[in-house]
Amino acid sequence: MRRLVVALGGNALQEGGRPATAEAQLEVVKATAVHLADLVEKGYELIIAHGNGPQVGRLVLQNEGASHITPAMPFDVCGAMSQGMIGYHIQQAMGDQLRKRGINTPVTTLVTQVVVDGDDPGFKNPTKPIGPFYSAQEAGRMEREKGYTMKEDAGRGWRRVVASPRPVEIVELAAVKALVEAGIMVITVGGGGIPVIRKADGSLEGTAAVIDKDFASERLAEDIDADALLILTAVEKAAVNFGKPNQKELDTVTVQEAERYIKEGHFAAGSMLPKINAAVAFANSRQGRRAIISSLEKAIEALEGKTGTVILK
Ligand code: ADP
Ligand code: MG
Repeated sequence: MRRLVVALGGNALQEGGRPATAEAQLEVVKATAVHLADLVEKGYELIIAHGNGPQVGRLVLQNEGASHITPAMPFDVCGAMSQGMIGYHIQQAMGDQLRKRGINTPVTTLVTQVVVDGDDPGFKNPTKPIGPFYSAQEAGRMEREKGYTMKEDAGRGWRRVVASPRPVEIVELAAVKALVEAGIMVITVGGGGIPVIRKADGSLEGTAAVIDKDFASERLAEDIDADALLILTAVEKAAVNFGKPNQKELDTVTVQEAERYIKEGHFAAGSMLPKINAAVAFANSRQGRRAIISSLEKAIEALEGKTGTVILK
């Protein structure tokens, strides 16, 4: 096992409860880079994917909040900005960390588009809240003037909601492959990729949607023929009966067992469920492929089979 797609969760990029400054983000990313560089030293080839929820939310907020001064960039453009800003920190921190260890692997970020299906059922019932809160009156105006879908969010005000469609195709896949084959470490499908729809004439158009980074990472892992999909998050293992007295952490799980646990409702939608679904899809895609869910700190041990939740066929 050598080639890994590493999907970094929110906690690899930012520490909860601290101000979301650039300095704070870079500090967390530097710590993340130490763990990732450890993997490189162990001989793994990494392709790095990451989330962007909080970051893109803030970019939308900044753009909407300053729209009386300068035109607000639309959501897909904010996604591209978030890929650049997060990728910049990761590539700087990774580069420094590798050089310190005498490893000269170049690191680069690729602005990545991911095709979604305009007929994806997600578009009919958008559920993913993005950006700031508005009053009912403002929300009504935005629905009329901009065609946004606005929903009331748990008594806290109105927010724009967008669809969370499945990733269909990574547009820059050939570029990712070429870079990987050339020995370059690539940071790609940031935030799940910039969602684009392929029009009848073949051209691409950005759309306001959020692709789950766990699903985009899975797509990427299959497409570049990774040996493992390593999903790094805030917990060392996935669990059944999560948060209950009879909680049981999962070690090695077959696809069949995982599917049964999914049906029994053990994994929360929007957090652990997409990881398990992505893991199942990857393990199912070919014999010998394994998906691992664990924490950054335990990544090496998880790859060595000592901890983490491993899903295989
Ligand atoms: P990420 O930013 O890494 O995608 P998420 O917050 O989306 O992180 O998902 C990880 C979180 O999922 C964990 O921190 C945990 O609180 C939650 N979670 C929900 N269900 C489970 C479960 N069955 N087992 C473990 N963690 C779970
Ligand atoms: Mg998540």
